[in-house]
Amino acid sequence: MTAIAVHGGAGAEAPGERDARRASVARAAEEGWAVLVAGGHALDAVIAAVAVLEDDPLFNAGLGSVLTVDGVVEMDASVMTGDTLEAGAVGAVTGVCSPVRLARAILVEGREVLLVGEPAQQLARRHGLATCAPEALITEEARRRWQERRAPGGETVGAVARDAAGHLAAATSTGGVTGKRRGRLGDSAVIGAGTYADDALGAGSATGPGEAIIRLCLVRSALDLLARGADAPRAAAESLATLQGRLGAAAGIVLLDPRGDVGVAHTTASMPAAYRRSSTAGTVVLD
Ligand code: ASP
Repeated sequence: MTAIAVHGGAGAEAPGERDARRASVARAAEEGWAVLVAGGHALDAVIAAVAVLEDDPLFNAGLGSVLTVDGVVEMDASVMTGDTLEAGAVGAVTGVCSPVRLARAILVEGREVLLVGEPAQQLARRHGLATCAPEALITEEARRRWQERRAPGGETVGAVARDAAGHLAAATSTGGVTGKRRGRLGDSAVIGAGTYADDALGAGSATGPGEAIIRLCLVRSALDLLARGADAPRAAAESLATLQGRLGAAAGIVLLDPRGDVGVAHTTASMPAAYRRSSTAGTVVLD
């Protein structure tokens, strides 16, 4: 089965932004779906989907990223492909319009899995990826949230896909949490924690407090539940229950099992998500 599932971050949304966020995740899922129906690889599909939301100021990734305690943007992103287990991730990068595309450049080069800061940014220029002034990624809303020292609102973005050849991929991108210290990396930069894909196990992208998600290796833990026989919805819910029970953290996750069945769960007030599968007509938009 061909499938894609996209999330727009676990958190507590401003009521006025709910509908627009759901429309955006649906649009992102459709963008990824178009890659899949054209016979594209799952990795290209998840990157296409996540890049849509990085460009959308309503999400905490790319344009619209939250600010560090010093009032600057530092972004994390990661990608993984389940056929070869190749992975790429970037941490604490700025001045790069699409961190998820930069993560793919790391994957393609194949030398490192995770590169941070200025050296990662230089790679963007080498790969011809769009760069910008670091301030260009700061929206008025992100500045206001920082000035008011408002609690992190979520809005990390991620996607998982299964292509026609049966290959899986996952991608996640975030500005992290508001008021984080410079140099802090969250789970979205950590393979196994925020992002994982293995054709034999499944694929997942997580969102929520990065420190807790890293400690539990949340996505990989959820895929282990799949391997032990849980279906995708149950693996998603149970992994979050463990995160809550062991670490007191509320989060969200989207999963695909190796056949392309979808699991979406969150223990936060909300998490916009959308999925599309070859077995069902149209895009399904969730809470
Ligand atoms: N997981 C992200 C981080 O800790 C934040 C989020 O998903 O809301 O950087």
